Amino acid sequence: MSLTADVIVIGGGVIGSSITYYLSKRGKRVIQLERDYFNSGASGSCDTMISPNTKEPNEHLQLALYSVELYKTLSSELGRDIEYEQKGSLLLIENQEELNIMEGIVKKQNSLGLNSRLISAEETLRLQPGLNRDAIVGASYSEVDADVNPFCLNLAFADRAAALGAQTFTHEGVQEILLHNGAVAGVKTNRNTYYAPIVINAAGAWAPIVGKMVGLNIPIKPRRGQTVITEAVPPFVHKLVNNARYIVGKHHPELLKDDHSAKARMGIAISLVQSRKGNVEFGNSREFVGYDTSNTYECLRELIKNATRIIPGLKDLNIIRTMGGVRPHSPDSKPLIGFVQGVPGFFLAAGHEGDGICLSPVTGKLVSDLIVDGKTDVPAAAGFDPNRFNLF
Ligand SMILES: Cc1cc2nc3c(=O)[nH]c(=O)nc-3n(C[C@H](O)[C@H](O)[C@H](O)COP(=O)(O)OP(=O)(O)OC[C@H]3O[C@@H](n4cnc5c(N)ncnc54)[C@H](O)[C@@H]3O)c2cc1C
Repeated sequence: MSLTADVIVIGGGVIGSSITYYLSKRGKRVIQLERDYFNSGASGSCDTMISPNTKEPNEHLQLALYSVELYKTLSSELGRDIEYEQKGSLLLIENQEELNIMEGIVKKQNSLGLNSRLISAEETLRLQPGLNRDAIVGASYSEVDADVNPFCLNLAFADRAAALGAQTFTHEGVQEILLHNGAVAGVKTNRNTYYAPIVINAAGAWAPIVGKMVGLNIPIKPRRGQTVITEAVPPFVHKLVNNARYIVGKHHPELLKDDHSAKARMGIAISLVQSRKGNVEFGNSREFVGYDTSNTYECLRELIKNATRIIPGLKDLNIIRTMGGVRPHSPDSKPLIGFVQGVPGFFLAAGHEGDGICLSPVTGKLVSDLIVDGKTDVPAAAGFDPNRFNLF
């Protein structure tokens, strides 16, 4: 075991593991430190969607499209089945107001290279039988959207990185970041001291706590999401299914400001997928309740009401468990990826909110480009520079 490396990565979620893999592939000696176990954070309590269709049509969408390209060969590159499947996604439109807004969003998406389109209610039902015809007026459909098993993905990144020489340690939390003449020199954990001139903060929703260790105010906040999982059943969900309202609200929050329902307050969305084993996963919420990852009766009731209204056949399935996790929310919903000015060697890669599974490959590639080459071909990368916020 070596206590020195070129780069130390803090965090064993998909972002930390992807970075560890891409840096190892470029020949860097990496130490990755996770205070609990892999997937103990958001990466182990999330949905499975790789969905450019839900991204804001700006540099965020460009980043997602780049990630989609990387995903196509990722399984074979990592030497592991990550259950990647390009199924396509539907954003269900429920009324004329949503339809008008989605028309504008689809046009912008098309201009940035996403081949999404609006489809009728009949076509929506052909693609996803079982939907309540009375609940929808149509959908926006994107063929490139896919899903993946986030647990397998994270472990596949970590294992491949280890095969390339990375050292990964679990149950080792970083408690202090060492500085020498103001520049990063290493970290202290509950067990050891490790030395490297670059430290990457990939601690997800906990990135602000790690940032405090070098005097930073990182504007990331935990945002809880709750999810329901059913027993395994034969193929039932054929597409990734979401509510367009959720996207409309994301891009035009002013339109939901007069909606004081429990559903709007908790940001309830259907987010329906089915795993390869057959379990149906649905629902997620968006709540600012600190680091509390518990499930609440009020939220689960709203998730189930919303989902069974849209796809009534769900009523016949048994729920086997529920999950809660905290997304790393950033003020402009875009991740913070880059060196922090003022603390030489301190690199931030966090704030992926509800998109970290989708964006993990491109984040690893972007970080390794910036560290190894000092430049990147990832489009619009400058838009994710953490120094766009006042971090001190
Ligand atoms: C309900 C829900 C649904 C979602 N659905 C999707 C989806 O369909 N598609 C999608 O793309 N994204 C989705 N997301 C978002 C996605 O899960 C996150 O963006 C992603 O997992 C963030 O990964 P991360 O590695 O940054 O954070 P995490 O997975 O949270 O990892 C951070 C890790 O850092 C560790 N850590 C913290 N402090 C320290 C320390 N001091 N020392 C060492 N380790 C430390 C933590 O223990 C944790 O394991 C969803 C999230 C939720 C909650």
